Amino acid sequence: MTKLFECKRCGFCCQGESTVSLSSQEQENIARYLGLSLQEFLTRYTIKKDKRVEMKTINGHCIFYDEEKSLCKIHSVKPSACRQWPLHPSILRDPESFEIIRRTCPGFSPQATWKDIVAFLKKSSSPDF
Ligand code: SF4
Ligand code: SF4
Repeated sequence: MTKLFECKRCGFCCQGESTVSLSSQEQENIARYLGLSLQEFLTRYTIKKDKRVEMKTINGHCIFYDEEKSLCKIHSVKPSACRQWPLHPSILRDPESFEIIRRTCPGFSPQATWKDIVAFLKKSSSPDF
């Protein structure tokens, strides 16, 4: 059977001039992983937008994206929003939400339908890469 989703490691989801919000727990986890104090981590790697704390970007991608290896430098502690992507619960809302996400992610099989993905999500957890 064709896989509904397989990450192509294209890195597209780590590109852009903004990233995802980090919860307090995620900030602490990443700081600990990097061997930094929370304050040091926040200063070096994050930016505040209103009340949200986001990871900084450099060269048009998340500061933790490794361009040479096409992978996340903090994979084991990456934020839950990154861990869920692209099989995010918002896909479940309607076929249009799925199509919007599918257009930005080449990992979906061209044969995969919204119903297939919804059924898959209901019985499994999100993929990891
Ligand atoms: S999740 Fe999709 S967009 Fe992100 S690296 Fe994998 S294939 Fe590319
Ligand atoms: S934390 Fe990792 S997976 Fe998330 S945007 Fe940054 S590089 Fe990509």
